[in-house]
Amino acid sequence: MQLSSTLQRFNEPETLKMAKLGRELRAKGIDIVDLSLGEPDFDTPEHIKDAAKKAIDENWSHYTPVAGYLDLREAICNKLKRDNNLAYTPDQIIVSTGAKQSLANAVLSVIDPEDEVIIPTPYWVTYSEIVKLAQGKVVFVNTTLQNGYKITPEELENAITYNTKLFIFSSPCNPTGAVYSKEELEKLAMVFKKFPRIIIISDEIYEYINFVGQHESIAQFDFIKDRVILINGLSKGFAMTGWRLGYIAAPAEIVKAAEKIQGQFTSGTNSIAQRSAIVALNADLTPTHEMVTEFKRRKLRVAELLKEFPLMQCNVPDGAFYIFPSVKKYFGLKNGEVVISNADELCMYLLNEAHVSTVTGSAFGNPDCIRISFANSMEKIEEGFRRIKAGLEKLT
Ligand code: PLP
Repeated sequence: MQLSSTLQRFNEPETLKMAKLGRELRAKGIDIVDLSLGEPDFDTPEHIKDAAKKAIDENWSHYTPVAGYLDLREAICNKLKRDNNLAYTPDQIIVSTGAKQSLANAVLSVIDPEDEVIIPTPYWVTYSEIVKLAQGKVVFVNTTLQNGYKITPEELENAITYNTKLFIFSSPCNPTGAVYSKEELEKLAMVFKKFPRIIIISDEIYEYINFVGQHESIAQFDFIKDRVILINGLSKGFAMTGWRLGYIAAPAEIVKAAEKIQGQFTSGTNSIAQRSAIVALNADLTPTHEMVTEFKRRKLRVAELLKEFPLMQCNVPDGAFYIFPSVKKYFGLKNGEVVISNADELCMYLLNEAHVSTVTGSAFGNPDCIRISFANSMEKIEEGFRRIKAGLEKLT
């Protein structure tokens, strides 16, 4: 069968591949500790589940407006005002089937073939692949551990060319947990001010999972706000990954374009998830804060556990639920026939030898690192690190 050439342009997400491999080993009866998870290990809060049950009973079962119910878009505007002091109107909001679809809508709305898209590495796996799908040209800018894996204004400006159309980043960042401060964002915004053609996608899906204080959005700088596509959603902050609800806040022109695309792909997202999202966004955030407190406790424990691995180097994450150590110092070591020459091989070694699943940094544009998730119980995290240590000690 001749499949389309579109398929050759992009890769399947390494994160999902790793989860699949872990599941396969588990199905064979092997006890795998999963530290590859990209979602909260918490259940959706009760009041949100109740809202879904109510929505079913009230027969919210019909097609929804493509951009989402108006009262949901109003709730999103209220949330953006309450949490971020950002003013948006419902015509500047479009709700989608997860932030992933929001991202695809945004990229497909603004990218023409050969447009350059700057993505600081490490980055979330999907950014580059969606750009390739849209036939844009990905321009990676490698950030460094020394700079906390954050792009500097100089690095940004050096990467900009006449063809630069888009910049995509996340703060808090998946996979590094880096969080940009207001001052850092302002300096980047000042660079963008000089280049009015560039559009900025700000992925803020980990907004609430922030260990250092107030979330800051690059959309707060009025002189560039009309070029910022803010992406957020309910997956991470409300433990609702499977519900599939994300959104864009952006100039109405972008939202209209995204609506046109979404109207052909999926139409409006799931009605029950939308009704529940209204409740989630309007309610107080106690369950979210409790979850974040637990993530913070685990982060501190993980940072402590990592001290037992002098060959690993990393930043302590300020947000999200991942740690992203460099494992370069293990390259060249071996256990019998198995030689570790890169992070992909180290991840496979950890899976097969230590029965712990992690994700290779090459999936995120940094082949020296691995991503270890702490979206698992403290008990599993400690067991996972114990196994990793035992596995690595066999390498000589
Ligand atoms: N953006 C980042 C940085 C993510 O890590 C993820 C999920 O892993 C998403 C977006 C997608 O979120 P959603 O579940 O809403 O599609």
